[in-house]
Amino acid sequence: MDCIFCRIAKKEIPAEIVYEDELILAFKDIKPVAPVHILIIPKSHIPSVNHLAMEDKTLMGDLILVAQKIAKDRSVDKSGYRLVLNIGQDAGQTVDHLHLHLIGGHRLPWA
Ligand code: AMP
Ligand code: ZN
Repeated sequence: MDCIFCRIAKKEIPAEIVYEDELILAFKDIKPVAPVHILIIPKSHIPSVNHLAMEDKTLMGDLILVAQKIAKDRSVDKSGYRLVLNIGQDAGQTVDHLHLHLIGGHRLPWA
């Protein structure tokens, strides 16, 4: 399958990986919108939140806990950060492999 995030998960194309476990990978966004901009993805190909099933409940909780850990590692846990899931066209989702944005490091505008 020609999915860029699947290819990153399989190490077929490079990324600045900041966290990895059996099911989850986190890496720096190639076009950061803030000093800290990390993408946290399931290694399995799930196109978006629209495609989540009941058995993905734990995985989604784990994605958020990984975000919490990275926020602490990058010292934005106290200053604050934003977690974003874009779903579909109106949200501007450009990569059809579910990813949680962790954005922080300066004051974030809303919308
Ligand atoms: P979204 O608009 O929510 O689909 O976000 C996709 C994000 O993936 C964007 O912020 C892109 O900058 C980022 N992105 C696309 N290709 C890569 C890549 N090869 N490595 C790292 N980040 C990427
Ligand atoms: Zn994929």
